[in-house]
Amino acid sequence: CGIIGIVGKAPVSDRLIESLKRLEYRGYDSAGVAVQRGGRVERRRALGKIRALEAVLAEQPLTAEIGIGHTRWATHGAPSERNAHPHTAGRVTLVHNGIIENFAELKAELQAEGRVFESETDTEVVAHLIDHYLAAGAAPLAAFKSALDRLTGAYALAVLIEGRDNFIMGARRGSPLVVGTGAGEMFLGSDALAVGPFTNKVTYLEEGDYVAIDHDRAEIFDETGTPVERPMKIVSASA
Ligand code: GLU
Repeated sequence: CGIIGIVGKAPVSDRLIESLKRLEYRGYDSAGVAVQRGGRVERRRALGKIRALEAVLAEQPLTAEIGIGHTRWATHGAPSERNAHPHTAGRVTLVHNGIIENFAELKAELQAEGRVFESETDTEVVAHLIDHYLAAGAAPLAAFKSALDRLTGAYALAVLIEGRDNFIMGARRGSPLVVGTGAGEMFLGSDALAVGPFTNKVTYLEEGDYVAIDHDRAEIFDETGTPVERPMKIVSASA
């Protein structure tokens, strides 16, 4: 339902929460965050309100300068902590808005190669699919593209790859995703509001685009894998 991703130069935990609160108006049933530090990804999730997630984080804090966050509105799999995003498979941890229509056939294929699923979501197949291509030797962007080419349905995605401390990938088809440009920091968000607390410089991805951000730039590709430029807009502070 709501997505935020930050490649920052200062701690992100509080900022992920701040952004998720801006997205509360959209409605949601659970929330979660994942961060990466020293090549390790850790996540915290909670059923219910963002303050439940804040309580978890108060008990088990996360300190890192890169992370993703999500508010979920369940479509596949009941609202629960286990079905809350982010979802992890191998080296891949991601959040997703939308619906993967062919998830059942992809899940059967991935289970046939021995992969074990932890949730009932359509989303988890995307994490396994990217990890499948990584395990076969593909670089992260190539693995991401191969996975995207297999998906039908609607998605906005933000993806962490374990071991890549300065890198988040994103993609959009049928669900919006924006890139925010800060001062030595870059952001992904499901809309301009998500990145609004941090920057007013927003680039709207187009249908089928995917992107990799690090702390100071975004590389955008269209659905054929061709690098493209998309215009950056200055949005008003209230947008
Ligand atoms: N289809 C996904 C799920 O049920 C994502 C829902 C959403 O957009 O929040 O977990």
